[in-house]
Amino acid sequence: MTDFSYRGGKLFAEDVPITEISSFIGTPFYCYSASILEDNYRRFASAFQGLNAEICYAVKANSNQAVISLFAGMGAGADVVSEGELRRSVAAGISGEKIVFSGVGKSATELAVALEYGCGQFNVESESELNLLSEVASDMGKTATIVFRVNPDVDADTHHKISTGRAGDKFGIQFERVAEAYDRARILDGIDPRGLAVHIGSQLTRLDPFRGAFEKIAGLVRELRAKGHVIERLDLGGGLGIVYRDEILPNLSDYADIVRNVFGQMGLKITFEPGRRLTGEAGILVTEVLHMKESGGRRFAIVDAAMNDLIRPTLYDAWHEIEPVVEPENGGPVSPLDIVGPVCETGDVFAVQRQMPETRVGDLFVLRSAGAYGAVMSSTYNSRQLVPEVMVKGDLYTVIRPRSDFDTLIGMDIVPDWIATE
Ligand code: PLP
Repeated sequence: MTDFSYRGGKLFAEDVPITEISSFIGTPFYCYSASILEDNYRRFASAFQGLNAEICYAVKANSNQAVISLFAGMGAGADVVSEGELRRSVAAGISGEKIVFSGVGKSATELAVALEYGCGQFNVESESELNLLSEVASDMGKTATIVFRVNPDVDADTHHKISTGRAGDKFGIQFERVAEAYDRARILDGIDPRGLAVHIGSQLTRLDPFRGAFEKIAGLVRELRAKGHVIERLDLGGGLGIVYRDEILPNLSDYADIVRNVFGQMGLKITFEPGRRLTGEAGILVTEVLHMKESGGRRFAIVDAAMNDLIRPTLYDAWHEIEPVVEPENGGPVSPLDIVGPVCETGDVFAVQRQMPETRVGDLFVLRSAGAYGAVMSSTYNSRQLVPEVMVKGDLYTVIRPRSDFDTLIGMDIVPDWIATE
């Protein structure tokens, strides 16, 4: 059993009933299936067999060290965007040379730490960053291997807040300026330019935008090589979508064919940075119904998870499939229900007028496809605890992050002694 599915009328994570975990740890909690994570990684890797390719898992999607280590054990490197992600990846067992440092705003300190760890590749996003990296690396007597992240001006046809490859988006170096940046990189101290990177957005459900971007990049590779530049690496980013509702996804093999057709004869080492595709469908958020009420002609289920635990619906109007943990009767009655969290924001809503079976206080729901950009985007807004994360493998489960405690949360504040407390 490698899924979240009903058995005997109850939802299981692999071979563990969700109710067993909720009795142990309480709600809300994230639950990940190790088998699905492994399966996703295996499928991804096998689609690119025959290519000189490496997978650097995009840690931003789910940075729990258990998740990173699981992929590391399967051969993955990491794509990181901050010192924190870099340190986490190293702590989870990924060596510096298997780490790609992406991100639009790396600081001098972050660059120095990455050089100290022997970071394998810096994806440089501006001429300003190039100059800073040159300074930092030369001061340290090191050389940074870089590729330039190119903004190809391609619309990824995804939610505008996760579209990153249009001219005017903050990411990457303007296509027309890359050749000039490469010229400069060649003569800068501490810099070893080796190739290009591109990432046009996330949750792409069509392949055309990838093809469009890749063809532009292939043209640029030819142009740069003609000028005598060394282009031996290509980082194609992440971006492949998953099913949240009823999306029809392109086959991985079709995606791989595009990569082969466009770049296959160019003698390049290719890096992929998948995030959502590896973790999204491998996770659920489990929550309990705290209260039922009716207002303004609508029925509300107020659950104990909230926008601070899973912000995607609030931030991106994202749809997450919501299912009761007790299997509803097939063909049984359903009625519209608003499923909302307890946070004091009108936007703290998981579902509007969702057709749900009869619901009572104490029922458990799961929100599906919550393994990517879920726990990592959580906050303690409204002074709420960070929810636990659990990983299941077969009939085993382990709490891979406990619920944060109030003493730590409240203890972080410092009240100046010049504020009168009486
Ligand atoms: N690489 C880069 C540079 C990114 O910015 C992102 C996320 O936006 C990813 C990889 C991972 O994307 P995804 O989770 O869509 O695969």
